[in-house]
Amino acid sequence: MKIRFWGVRGSFAMSGRDFLRYGGNTTSVELVTDDGHRLLIDLGTGATELAKALMGAEFGKGAGRLPILLSHTHLDHIQGLPFFTPFFIKGNEIRILGANPISGLSLEATLQNQLAPHYSPLNGLENLAAGVSIETIQAGSTLSLPGFEVVTQAMPHGSMWTTAYRITADGKTVTYLSDVEYPNADEPSAEAVALAQDADLLIHDAMHSDQDYPSRRGWGHSPAHAGVVVAERARAKKLALFHHSPDATDAMIDEVVALTASHTAVPVFAAAEGSYLDV
Ligand SMILES: [Zn+2]
Ligand SMILES: [Zn+2]
Repeated sequence: MKIRFWGVRGSFAMSGRDFLRYGGNTTSVELVTDDGHRLLIDLGTGATELAKALMGAEFGKGAGRLPILLSHTHLDHIQGLPFFTPFFIKGNEIRILGANPISGLSLEATLQNQLAPHYSPLNGLENLAAGVSIETIQAGSTLSLPGFEVVTQAMPHGSMWTTAYRITADGKTVTYLSDVEYPNADEPSAEAVALAQDADLLIHDAMHSDQDYPSRRGWGHSPAHAGVVVAERARAKKLALFHHSPDATDAMIDEVVALTASHTAVPVFAAAEGSYLDV
């Protein structure tokens, strides 16, 4: 299985010379199996770059098939939706799967709101030319997608919940735990550890440096070391620090990686926009 990070930034997109190496687009991660099945996690602004790549192949001809897992509907995870060009080509079939963001509000209604005329000229999901299905999942359930087996789990994220994913394909497992803040960062939940158990790659929220975290407790995100605790307890083979703060320059992220790696034997790196990984 191959992974490509198309967007690794959290909260909002950044630009500028201090952000060139890790990239400024918000979250979007592509997984491709050895036989070409594709899955996308989140539709942040990074997804627009993936869209350009997809349009050069079957998606440009209206023959693309893509499931997209949403962790939640904060803007940094859906802002690429109105600009994801495969939606504009008749014949493409795109499934968006996610939990209802807040009880009483459906995922479909939330995404419709994003395309309402005061936010977008698209004026509704029904105006997308592609076949688009919005599928509500229950966090805690398992999903079978072409080429992928997925375990889902609700995780606390400030005043709401996000959905974390354990994805297995080609005999390898990737766990996506972004936008999560455990009640105690030193004691991640048993559910988080179970989701990452023996994973070949753990992608974990690292929005805050360990030094900054005490003043940002309760904002819904983890300090870098929380991912280490999960990775060690779960015996994950590799840890990708993810969802970098828009305040974090390349140099600051390098420092976080060096400090984090000095505290663990688990190989650690910071996810960088555009980078590939063979899992
Ligand atoms: Zn986020
Ligand atoms: Zn969020």
